[in-house]
Amino acid sequence: MLLTITYTGKDTQHLGYLLYKNPHRPQAFDLTHGKAYVFYTEISDERTTAALLLDINPIDLARGKQSGLFDYVNDRPYAASSFMSTAISKVFGTALSGRADDFQALSDSPINLTASITMLPCRDTDKLPKIFEPLKYSLSYETFLADENFSDWGISKYVNLTISGKVRLCDLLKHLYVLIPVFDRQKHYWVGEEEIEKLLRHGENWLTEHPEKEYIAAQYLNRQRRLVNIAIERLTGEITEKPPKTLNSERLEKIVSTLKEFGARKVIDLGCGEGNLLKLLVKDRHFTHVTGVDVSDAALQRARKDYSLAESEIELFQGSLVYKDARFSGYDAACVIEVVEHLDISRISTFERVLFKFANPPLIIITTPNKEYNTHYEKLGNNLRHTDHRFEWTRAEFVEWAERTAESFGYVVKILEVGEADEIHGAPTQMGVFSCKE
Ligand code: SAH
Repeated sequence: MLLTITYTGKDTQHLGYLLYKNPHRPQAFDLTHGKAYVFYTEISDERTTAALLLDINPIDLARGKQSGLFDYVNDRPYAASSFMSTAISKVFGTALSGRADDFQALSDSPINLTASITMLPCRDTDKLPKIFEPLKYSLSYETFLADENFSDWGISKYVNLTISGKVRLCDLLKHLYVLIPVFDRQKHYWVGEEEIEKLLRHGENWLTEHPEKEYIAAQYLNRQRRLVNIAIERLTGEITEKPPKTLNSERLEKIVSTLKEFGARKVIDLGCGEGNLLKLLVKDRHFTHVTGVDVSDAALQRARKDYSLAESEIELFQGSLVYKDARFSGYDAACVIEVVEHLDISRISTFERVLFKFANPPLIIITTPNKEYNTHYEKLGNNLRHTDHRFEWTRAEFVEWAERTAESFGYVVKILEVGEADEIHGAPTQMGVFSCKE
């Protein structure tokens, strides 16, 4: 898939400074599922064109990390999609942010730019002007027969789209970042709450006023009604004082308040990931000792890089919940947040002993998805919420496990729901608060 950006006017080679990409030196970048290449197809005073070419590996998508997301035969190597947005932010990140050092004045000015996107999935071409014209682009597009040898197969669902306008480069990149995946509905990653932040951040300055903002938000967020509602409320400012809580922040707040309720000051977060809970704990003086553990070195490295954690007294170490570990002992409370579902079901009994018997803190908080609630996530079908989940529990299954485990190890358990509950399926997250019987 190919995106070209053409600057016309005078001194147009300066496009190289705006994009932070030398026009005379083609460059390659590694992406998770392939490579991106940047090169220029024309350079002159009046007209300069930069090209971003993606080479996505379809086999990688069908197996490996993202297994199951795509079939072996898929259009991903060719179609403009969320991969292009990821590449734009990775390869043109500085330009996307609007920063241009010595060329700031040019970066801040609307200039004549044309972008061409090959193979944009688009079944409904009427949408193209509705989406791009309010942003003051003129547009043209080319359609094709699905197959030249079989004209009765009709028109292909892909178009080559060209948009032109007098815009700032950063605005053009933001429009492309958001709008390419609006046309292509298959995101190559799980769409969760972080996507709302991405949409709002890149939609800043233009999405609120866009007559198709609801359509754009819905498509961008894979039509997940709960996420779309939050995005629209925040866009239209209907809830101005305080943005509605995301599930993640609601979960974290409930954990923090439960820890306080039990007077826990020394806390260990097992399977801490990038440290979302740790960040809350370290900035709260109530907690005197905060430790994070994860099996993934990459996650720990990301946590270490986080500014608020790097500056704190926090302890972080690598360890696994399915191996007895003396370092897990001596805490007032252990949190295991959205982690059990990543363990092989055959290892759960080992995990129980590691945590309840050997670490044996007075308080244990465990959260896990409620499988019944998955019917709210349209795109999920029969899948689990994350490709690395080994299982997900229904409410009955979780209660059964939690009560049996509490009973075996001398704890009492209280089950709570987190997130907006619906009458039939319950809430998205379930939480068990286990306290040690004296
Ligand atoms: N608790 C964090 C991260 C949840 S994602 C949060 O709520 O944001 C699940 C995490 O569990 C991942 O970081 C993964 O590396 C970690 N994990 C998976 N198996 C583990 C194991 N056996 N021991 C410790 N951590 C594990």
